[in-house]
Amino acid sequence: MGQREWMPWRWYLATMTLAVLGYFRTPDTWVQTIYYDSIALSGVIAMWIGLRRAGVAAVRLWRFFAACQLLTVFGDFSYAWYERYLHVSLYPAPADAMYLVAGVLEILVLARVVLHRLPDRDPAGVIEAAILAAAFALIAWVYLMKPVTEAAELGVAGKLVTFSYPVVDLLLLALLARMVVGGGARNIAFRLLGVGMASYLAADYAWAFTDHFQFDAGTFTSHLMDAGYLLAFVMYGAAGLHPDIRELAKPALIGGRSFSAWRFGLLTGATMISPLLLAWQAWRNHDHVVDAQAIAIGCVAMFLLVVARMAILVRQVERQSQILESQTEELTELVQRDALTGLANRRAWELALPLALDHARSDGTPLALAILDLDHFKRYNDRHGHQAGDRLLKEAATAWTGAMRGGDLLARYGGEEFGLLIPASDSEQAAALLDRLRPLTPFGQTFSAGIAVWDGQESSMALFARADAALYAAKHQGRNRVAFAAA
Ligand code: GH3
Ligand code: MG
Ligand code: MG
Repeated sequence: MGQREWMPWRWYLATMTLAVLGYFRTPDTWVQTIYYDSIALSGVIAMWIGLRRAGVAAVRLWRFFAACQLLTVFGDFSYAWYERYLHVSLYPAPADAMYLVAGVLEILVLARVVLHRLPDRDPAGVIEAAILAAAFALIAWVYLMKPVTEAAELGVAGKLVTFSYPVVDLLLLALLARMVVGGGARNIAFRLLGVGMASYLAADYAWAFTDHFQFDAGTFTSHLMDAGYLLAFVMYGAAGLHPDIRELAKPALIGGRSFSAWRFGLLTGATMISPLLLAWQAWRNHDHVVDAQAIAIGCVAMFLLVVARMAILVRQVERQSQILESQTEELTELVQRDALTGLANRRAWELALPLALDHARSDGTPLALAILDLDHFKRYNDRHGHQAGDRLLKEAATAWTGAMRGGDLLARYGGEEFGLLIPASDSEQAAALLDRLRPLTPFGQTFSAGIAVWDGQESSMALFARADAALYAAKHQGRNRVAFAAA
């Protein structure tokens, strides 16, 4: 994608954000209503046009979402119609029905999106979203829902509608939380949608609390809250115009999600809500807690959720440490093995040699060390090719190993040189073993070997050097033979 590419979503977002600022200057007449509804409608239209351009796979889902926004615009218009034209203040009004139906449908769409994005089971993500939702549920219950059940001035319909708003908001918030803590593409469309939802929720909660506490919201404050709704429309519109919307409902890979600082902070903050509310009520009412039962339920729910989340975390850590353990084992094994022949390599050989000396010392048994070197291996390589040389090394290793005792150690020390440790053996026994090995060398090839028996004093390096010198001697004497080191 080029830098100079025409990006309608940017233009739309910039222009409409300015338009939202302009809303603060509108007079409280039909002008305001039309101004407000035009911006809201622009969001619906932008989303609709964006979806046509994008040819989105989940296009039906987002069209449905745009239709929900349209229903909300109708609600706004109908509200204004009653207020400004008919001069009646109805509650509940047709606008409420439209808002609530739109809200419920919106929740269904977003739930589908969440299900599309997070098709695999992700109990950790569900629990985290539940922790956030539970915190809000407690506040919503104490300040918005419980008062409705006690409000004498509201009829049944009024109670039902007033009660439904926080329920719808809570469900929306739970979905937003699920999206935010879950996996999936966090592209620009996702962010626009998320910011839109958050903006809508902030405005709605602000209205609800203003209403509940009977604040007299000044013109600026009520404009600010309206601007919250408007921004939501604009964000949804921009999301629809952004090509990223194609990826929004695509399945996410849920993997090792990192427990980032902000996630930790968010969850910690949510768990603090119940005890803080308790402290607040106790302080306000001189140790008389009004909502003790609700707060207790909130605390219990939080504790259970946190413990469940921790259980998943602990299980995850345990599983990882198990994997790590077996990987370490494999790696240790791998690091000491020669890749071509499967024999112990030089590293393993150098670790084994001093240990073998220690054993011989403590057991008082002899220890023989031999170095084997293939004869004219370079010539063999030159004649038959490097791959044939490799095969010779491999098959020789297999053939020799088959004739050894369990306690003997054969290691590939270098290119075509092998070290052989023969515990509890003197030079005759070692020579007998090597004489058995020589005819086993594949493809008619031969090797020479030098044998040294540990004198009970010398270092492993000195022992090795003596065997090496003996090997030289065997080569000089004409190859295909064994030579003994001088004492
Ligand atoms: P000598 O009888 O004196 O031991 O003669 P040589 O040719 O066996 O000894 P030299 O040390 O001159 O040559 C060893 C050759 O082994 C040289 C090298 O190309 C070959 N070689 C070393 N490692 C490998 C390997 O992993 N695969 C193969 N195919 N060849 C190897
Ligand atoms: Mg050699
Ligand atoms: Mg050689």
